[in-house]
Amino acid sequence: MTSNTESLDIRVVGGGVIGLTSAIALAEDGHRVRVLSRDAAGDTTSAVAGGLCWPYRIQPYERAVEWSVRSFQVLAALAGRPEETGARMVTGTMTATTGGGRGASGKAGDGAEDGLAAWYDAVPGLRRARAEELPEGHASGWRARTPLVDMPSHLRYLERRLTAAGGAMERCEVTSLEEAGAAADMVVNCSGLGARALVPDPEVHPVQGQLVIVENPGIEEWYVSADAGASDTTYLLPQPYGLVLGGTAQENAWSLEPDPAVAEAIVARCARRFPELARARVLAHKVGLRPARPAVRLAAERLSGGVPCVHNYGHGGGGVTVAWGCADEVLRMVRAVQEERGPVRG
Ligand SMILES: Cc1cc2nc3c(=O)[nH]c(=O)nc-3n(C[C@H](O)[C@H](O)[C@H](O)COP(=O)(O)OP(=O)(O)OC[C@H]3O[C@@H](n4cnc5c(N)ncnc54)[C@H](O)[C@@H]3O)c2cc1C
Repeated sequence: MTSNTESLDIRVVGGGVIGLTSAIALAEDGHRVRVLSRDAAGDTTSAVAGGLCWPYRIQPYERAVEWSVRSFQVLAALAGRPEETGARMVTGTMTATTGGGRGASGKAGDGAEDGLAAWYDAVPGLRRARAEELPEGHASGWRARTPLVDMPSHLRYLERRLTAAGGAMERCEVTSLEEAGAAADMVVNCSGLGARALVPDPEVHPVQGQLVIVENPGIEEWYVSADAGASDTTYLLPQPYGLVLGGTAQENAWSLEPDPAVAEAIVARCARRFPELARARVLAHKVGLRPARPAVRLAAERLSGGVPCVHNYGHGGGGVTVAWGCADEVLRMVRAVQEERGPVRG
């Protein structure tokens, strides 16, 4: 995108992956950006995420796929510097026990029935898994090399990149968007689950996910078996900090306490695929609340005081996957608001 002429004073509420990528897009376009975040980046849902770049549990699917394709390009480029950015390209298998949903003919681009056709077309080298590459009971699947992001490390990279672009970070609880925008030209609301109280938007709700991090016995590829709509999935994501085992998706569950029985069931499911995992040493348990919404809210409105606000929240189980695509759109919306009303100040 080309640079803007008028530099605006913008407050971004939220310092998870959605807020930081939006803030970077705006700061690198020349705006004066301040991120307001209640939590340290390491304590957000974004820090819990397994970090696989693949659209999952996010609506509307068609838009999510467009955003994912854009993010794929950005993350694939960042994967050239994994130590610095936390992103790496890793090969893996995406499969499901229920057939059809992953496409039927075997060629990329036949996934129209699950809304992912554009994704299958966009991922370089994505191909149908051969029978011998699939676990027992799995009718079909895909092999692909995609970005896998070490989120704690990636969030630190995003903070450094924002600072380098002149952006600032502030830890504080925002009680009203109007107040956040009182001394600014514009507000960008990336408060995730916080939007439920802040907007307020009752459509935003938690989908709780639990993970177990174990010592990696030597697994180098990612593996996901997820049936559409199922609350229990089986996945393994090799991260530098350990092998991430998942997962669960409990609608409207608010607890952040790991449940030992759920953890045991996760390890047992993963050990059915890789028996050596039954004995793997557990390094950590993690729980996060996906900020789910029937559809991502990516739209501009005027707050009651007249200050324009761009909302960017409700990314459910796909925030890491769509973040850069959504950040581009935030930038486009900020420019559109600017053009519509002329100079925002003075
Ligand atoms: C177990 C699990 C695994 C996942 N795996 C993946 C994956 O592999 N790939 C993927 O793409 N996605 C994954 N996700 C989903 C992903 O984590 C989310 O979609 C993403 O983190 C949402 O980012 P966010 O920035 O909107 O929210 P958050 O990371 O929750 O950030 C919200 C920010 O808003 C701030 N905030 C909220 N309210 C206020 C307030 N009133 N005042 C000030 N600040 C406020 C918070 O402090 C925080 O900084 C996973 C999620 C879970 C739980």
